[in-house]
Amino acid sequence: MKTIYPEHCDTLFTGQQIATKVSEMGREIEAHYAGREVTVVAVLHGALVFVADLMRQMDMPMHLTAIVASSYHGAATTPGQLNVRLDNKLDIAGRHVLVVDDILDTGRTLHRIRDVISELDPASVKVCALVDKPSRRVADIEADFCGFEIPDLFIVGYGLDYNGRFRNLPDIVGLDPDNLPVLD
Ligand code: 5GP
Ligand code: MG
Repeated sequence: MKTIYPEHCDTLFTGQQIATKVSEMGREIEAHYAGREVTVVAVLHGALVFVADLMRQMDMPMHLTAIVASSYHGAATTPGQLNVRLDNKLDIAGRHVLVVDDILDTGRTLHRIRDVISELDPASVKVCALVDKPSRRVADIEADFCGFEIPDLFIVGYGLDYNGRFRNLPDIVGLDPDNLPVLD
C-alpha cells in the first residue's frame, strides 16, 4: 500500500470498482432524465472527486454548480454544527436539479440542502450519493441514486477526508476506530 494511506485501514472499494460503479450510475441518471438538461449541484469538498468522474459518465446536457457544506470539524468523526454556503448566483428556478454528495450519513446535510434548493423553485430535485450508511440515518431522506451501501464505518479516500487528509486516495478505505490516524 502506498505511503499516502493511513497506517490502520481496510480497503472497501478499489479505484477500479468505484469507476465501474460510477459508470453504472451515469447510465441510470441518463435514463432517468431521458435527454432533459440537468443542473448538477456538487456538495463540496467531499463530492469533488466523485462529481468530476460522474459528470463525465453522463452523456446528456448539463450545468455544474456547487455549494459548500461542512459538518465535521477538527479531528472529530462525529458531526458538529452544519454550515451550508450557497452560491448567490445559483440558477435553479425551473431547472432539474441533481444534488451530488459523497456520502449520506445521518442525512442532515442533504435534507437541509434539499430544503434550501426546493425554495428556489426548481422543476425537480433529486439526490445522488456515492456511498450510503443507512443505519446512521436521522433525517427523513433517501438517495434517488446511490452507489454503495456500507455499515457504520468512517471512510476516507476518493474525496472523503479525515481532518482534511486522505482526499487524494484512489480507493475508499475504512479507518480502524481504535487506531485513528495521528496527524500533525
Ligand atoms: P450527514 O449530514 O449525512 O450526517 O453527513 C454528510 C457529510 O458528513 C458527508 O457529506 C461527509 O462530508 C461527512 N461524512 C459522513 N460520513 C463520513 C465518513 O464516513 N467519512 C468521511 N470522510 N466523511 C463523512
Ligand atoms: Mg460532505
